[in-house]
Amino acid sequence: RGLGDVYKRQLSSIRLKEAGTMLEFDHVTFRYAKNMPVVLSDTSLKFGKGEFIAITGRNGSGKTTITRLLTGLEKPTEGRVLYEGKDITKEEASERSRFIGYVFQQPDRQMFMPTVREEIALGPYHQGKRGEELNRMVEKAMMETDTTALAEAYPRTLSRGDQQRVAIASALAMDTEYLILDEPTSGQDGHEKKMLMRLMESLQQRGITIILVTHDMDIVARDCTRVIVIASHKVAFDGRPEELFSAKNRPEDWGLLYPASVLLGRKLPGAPYCRDMDSFCRTFIALKGEGAL
Ligand code: ADP
Repeated sequence: RGLGDVYKRQLSSIRLKEAGTMLEFDHVTFRYAKNMPVVLSDTSLKFGKGEFIAITGRNGSGKTTITRLLTGLEKPTEGRVLYEGKDITKEEASERSRFIGYVFQQPDRQMFMPTVREEIALGPYHQGKRGEELNRMVEKAMMETDTTALAEAYPRTLSRGDQQRVAIASALAMDTEYLILDEPTSGQDGHEKKMLMRLMESLQQRGITIILVTHDMDIVARDCTRVIVIASHKVAFDGRPEELFSAKNRPEDWGLLYPASVLLGRKLPGAPYCRDMDSFCRTFIALKGEGAL
């Protein structure tokens, strides 16, 4: 995958954003109870269609809370949540599931059915789908997530990676527009991580907005078109990964580590931004070829 691919994905996310479909926080303030401290203070944010967004920040900064406010599992203390300009603040999570899919940090907690096939069928069934149409949606979602071979397996005994793909299939079977994943790559090996990120990429290319809660700065630098840093109950940074890791910011102040490829890139002549090790190696070889090293 070359740089061209990244720019193509960024362009497509800009185009889709201009098309106007959006999920939005409008001056949202949130506390878990009246006498509890504020978690999020007067925060406005737009999540455009087709973006690949990372939400990051220190533990306890409010990342999971943001996803719960988006999905409707929590309601703002003040402010509104909008979808395509319409106030959905009062809509319950079950209603919002028609366009927002959520993959829990421990996906076994969201699996209830005896087989993967039935688990994936649950959402579209509640939406009123039946018979051939329902079957088609389930088969398609299983194919897209490579879970067809697991169709008759018991979801709760699958590995976490397989459960994540089943949870993603459940969202796809409902034709989701937004897919939110909470720390999806923590504790996973390199191969599982790569497979999951490839799947996310292909979904984004189809126009689905991906929102990841993550501490993994390699993923932020390599895969995301936008990164939101939460600190002190507010949005401390909202922009492109290369801006976050540029010299004018101090991500370490927000508890974030630089990806190795970015630090290595800075040591090269002209200090190019290297979003991953592949990009660093390509740049290094090109500079050597030009005699610049
Ligand atoms: P993060 O995902 O960034 O680690 P969270 O959104 O989980 O942060 O938590 C933000 C703050 O809200 C933390 O101080 C946490 O202790 C508090 N918190 C989270 N869930 C609850 C809850 N159900 N009741 C009360 N406080 C909570």
